[in-house]
Order: sequence, then structure tokens, then C-alpha cells
Amino acid sequence: MNRRKFVKVLGTVTPVIAAMPSELMAFNKVANGPIVISTWEPNKKANAEAWEVLSRQGSALDAVHQGVMVPEADPEDTSVGLGGFPDRDGKVTLDACIMDHEGNIGAVMALEEIVHAISVARLVMEKTPHVQIVGDGALQFALENGFKRENLLTPKSIEAWKNWLKKSNYNPMETVELIEERIKKNHDTIGMLAIDSLNNISGACTTSGMAFKMHGRVGDSPIIGAGLYVDNEIGAATGTGVGEEVVRICGSHTIVEAMRYGKSPEEACKHALERLISMKGENHARKIQIGFIALNKNGDYGCYSMLPNFTMAVHSQDGVQIISAKSIF
Ligand code: ASP
Repeated sequence: MNRRKFVKVLGTVTPVIAAMPSELMAFNKVANGPIVISTWEPNKKANAEAWEVLSRQGSALDAVHQGVMVPEADPEDTSVGLGGFPDRDGKVTLDACIMDHEGNIGAVMALEEIVHAISVARLVMEKTPHVQIVGDGALQFALENGFKRENLLTPKSIEAWKNWLKKSNYNPMETVELIEERIKKNHDTIGMLAIDSLNNISGACTTSGMAFKMHGRVGDSPIIGAGLYVDNEIGAATGTGVGEEVVRICGSHTIVEAMRYGKSPEEACKHALERLISMKGENHARKIQIGFIALNKNGDYGCYSMLPNFTMAVHSQDGVQIISAKSIF
């Protein structure tokens, strides 16, 4: 990133962070105590909800669950839950997963007509012998457990879909310009990680997935190890971006393993992105946005993205911070 662009990106962050030398930004530290971090600046609202839970000595699991419900219920958020952009057939299909400090996991994929996919994922974790339920089966399970069917389309998402249909141009590979345009209108998948007052870690990830995707397409977000991973001894990671590429490198698990072998959260996020570059080459990677965030057991956190303009929202006893991720390209 050139200096002008860097300054422009920093223009959106809090003055405290903007004034920090880059060496300090590389390894942000919160000395113990609860903390919650999320993909994307607008998710500071979701973090605030999670922080409410953490500050009442609630569990990290409840914190991430309740935190990510905020964008799920927000009709203005066009990449998560209600109001999420539909697939090419005009159907909103949701993906979500959750993981706690004991290695318990639950996920739903291609779930329709239920706003809070994360709550269904948690129920899969807590009330079934399984870890993933998809499509009609996920809907049936949700309805049997008292969830209400709702129309997830909004006037805004219908209009966007109708506009897309005019050209039906679908290409998940992106340019920096396209990403900047998309971020102006919108933000993406929420991945959230938290540590509670017992020093336990949990994470959640929820999305409507790639806008105008093929019906039934599932990305990284509900896949444990790709879109989210938690190891209570080491730390946790989650991310956003082109799911096909994150699955290829088991992104979140790769990051947690890199932290296990001594990398800081920021270094570990960068390491996972470099794994994709060595596997698929620079020309491929230059067209892909992926943003990772990670948290270790000490409460150190970090992020990194393939292309510019990815942000992370942090909420701790030190207040709210928005971090502009460094990027590979
Ligand atoms: N990772 C999500 C997916 O591939 C989309 C995104 O985060 O933009 O479905």
C-alpha cells in the first residue's frame, strides 16, 4: 500500500491507533481480561453487544453468540442474516458456525428463512449428536425447535438482485477497485472471537455468503477449520473473503497452528495468506480478498489481509479500537 492510501485508510480509525507506530500495531496486547474482536469496522456494534455479556462475567460463548446476532437482525447489512443478498435464484441462504472452549462445534449451511442462523448452529452443537446440518434439514430442525420462518429478502436486496440479473455477471475474483466499491456500500461476513473472565475462548461466524452465488454454494464461513477455529490452549482465528480460497488452505486452523508454533496473531494471519500464494501463485492471489483476524490465549490480537482495506473491530477494557489490517498486496 502506498503512503497516501495508508493515510486514507487510517483516516477511518480512532486517533489512538492512527498515532501508533507500526511496530506497536504489529502486536497489540491486552493484558488479560475479557476481549472481543470482529471482522470489519461496522461490527463494533456487534462487539458492543458481546462486551455487555463479557462485562457481566458472561461466557465467551454467549458473548459471540449474542454479538453476531446484531448484524444478523440488521436489514441494512447486506451480507449477513436478514437483508443479506440472495443467490442467483433470489433465495437468501445462510451459513453459520460456532465453536467453544471445549472443542464443541455446530454449523448450519444453506439455511433459508431463519434470521438467526447462529442460534440454529448453536442448537446443532448443544442438542444433536452432529456438527453440521444443511439446507432443508437445517430448516426442518430449526422449525422443530421453535424458530419462526421469515422472509429474509428486503426491498434493498431485491433491487440489488434485479440489477444483478440484468448482466448476471458472476466472478468471485476481485480487483482492489471492486473491493473498495463493495466496502463503501456494505461490509462482509462477521467472524467474532472472544475471551471471557475465566480466560476461555469461543468464536462464531455467520454470513449470507457470496452475493448472487449458485444456489446451494457454501463457502468457508460455516466450515470449522476454514472460517473459524478455536483451540482454548492456544487461541482462535476467523475471517472473511473468498470462501473457496480460505477452504483450500484450512485458513483458520492454519492460523491457530502457526500461533501454536510461536507466531504472533498478526504473523499467523499473514502466514496463512502466504500459504495460498505458495499454493496457487501470486497472479491468482492478487485477485482475491481474504481478511483474517486472530486472538491468542494472552489476549494478543492481530489481523492481515491479501488486498487493502480490511478492518478489524476490537472491544476490551481499553475501549473500542478499529485496526486497519496490513495487506500483502
Ligand atoms: N467468506 C464468505 C463466503 O465465501 C463471504 C465473505 O466473507 O465475503 O461465503
